Amino acid sequence: MEKADIGLIGLGVMGANLALNIAEKGYRVAVYNRTTEKTHEFHENAGELKDRIIPCDTLEQLVGSIRAPRPIILMIKAGDPVDQEIKALKPLLMRDDIIIDAGNANFHDTVRRLNSLAADDPTFVGMGVSGGEEGARHGPSIMVGGTKEAYDRISPVLTAIAAKYQGEPCCALLGPDGAGHFVKTIHNGIEYADMQMIAEIYGILRDGLGLSAPAIGSVFSKWNDGPLNSYLIEITAKVLLAVDPDTGKAAVDVILDSAGQKGTGRWSAIEAQMLGVPATGIEAAVAARSLSALKAERQVAEKAYPSGGTALSPEDRARFIDDLEQGLLAGKIAAYAQGFAVMAAASKEYQWDLPLATIARIWRAGCIIRSQFLDVIAEAFDKGSPENLLLAPAFIERMTKGSAALRTVVSTAALSGLPVPALSAALSYFDSYRQARGTANLIQAQRDFFGAHGFKRLDREGDFHGPWSDIGA
Ligand code: NDP
Repeated sequence: MEKADIGLIGLGVMGANLALNIAEKGYRVAVYNRTTEKTHEFHENAGELKDRIIPCDTLEQLVGSIRAPRPIILMIKAGDPVDQEIKALKPLLMRDDIIIDAGNANFHDTVRRLNSLAADDPTFVGMGVSGGEEGARHGPSIMVGGTKEAYDRISPVLTAIAAKYQGEPCCALLGPDGAGHFVKTIHNGIEYADMQMIAEIYGILRDGLGLSAPAIGSVFSKWNDGPLNSYLIEITAKVLLAVDPDTGKAAVDVILDSAGQKGTGRWSAIEAQMLGVPATGIEAAVAARSLSALKAERQVAEKAYPSGGTALSPEDRARFIDDLEQGLLAGKIAAYAQGFAVMAAASKEYQWDLPLATIARIWRAGCIIRSQFLDVIAEAFDKGSPENLLLAPAFIERMTKGSAALRTVVSTAALSGLPVPALSAALSYFDSYRQARGTANLIQAQRDFFGAHGFKRLDREGDFHGPWSDIGA
């Protein structure tokens, strides 16, 4: 039998769809899954792609079915399963074979896995994939970390299966070792912030203006034709317009308000903190999901503090809805600026030389945060390397307009007791960032007062202590 071009381990939601995508692009793919029945069920249901798929019951069979040197994609649950699978695979592979971990790995694990390989072990590539089930099947965004040599060998199949934005594949080598998984992690952090801000605007429209789910859906649908145009706004409109078949109510109204998280958002916030980069929109979004999980406590708290969330009656309703649109855009710009600042810092810290414009480009299609807005980000990085996107001319113009609307949105929500944690974090970040004279002089004085940490002066070079002993320190 003709051998496969590539192997794939893990036929869950992502792996099965990725295998079909690979086969559809004309490659032969050998597949293996821990639970053997799934492998055969998958093969049976592969329709006209069946002939390009080789189902394997064992790892030995899988390895024997792929033409050497073998690229093998791991698309399984992240964490320990990946270590177990690598351990089982390694003795079966040769030096030139490539193991590609395509799951949502923590980039520290990717670096550790790479460092633990001996000189005659197979090559290891850490690859972030975004786009969910649909993306995996018809074109995801692919963020690769590894050597150029390994990438050159696997890039034909990766670029073939990747999403295309105006014909350009959304796939790139972003740097060595953990670079691909790091960028995927930050992608997910930005995704958390984007989704949270959308949910906050939904909350204002629902609880502040009293709009029904379908009416809010229509607002989002209209916004999707403007500067907010993106996959997340598009699906938000669709979700809000959907009806629950059992009750006839809006589907979103029968869903428990408690959001799940698998870890990538939290990792983003942790990495931002470790690098000393403010990513308050992402942090607020992660915290909001944690707060959402405290449903029972929130129910008790609502009884203890019943006055929260009063209805809004803006003088000009249409204008307020326009402010919500512009405010959301401004919040989104701040969150993306933070995410890109985290990547810029990581790039320096780990000497990855991350191509920020390319990252924006490969996120324009296929992934969950895809939007035309990323085109503007890519152009901003092409034109120079702004310290922060907020300093790029294209964004200065947008933020000047959008921040006024964001201020209206955040202040109106605050006065009405409507929670907007990510939007308010974005606004405070913007206001702090554009304030040349901040308030940390007082923090430094306090630190010196209780801990003799010293401070710098505005008017002289050197390290100083304050006159605290004169006033009873
Ligand atoms: P699923 O839960 O659908 O599938 C999990 C897969 O992992 C199955 O093939 C399962 O095999 C296998 N697996 C689980 N534990 C082990 C183990 N101990 N040893 C070997 N195989 C194991 O997950 P997804 O397809 O959704 O996700 C796969 C990876 O892709 C994860 O890292 C996920 O974070 C990432 N990802 C997911 C996205 C999504 O939208 N779902 C998007 C982007 C990335 P078995 O059938 O035997 O249980």
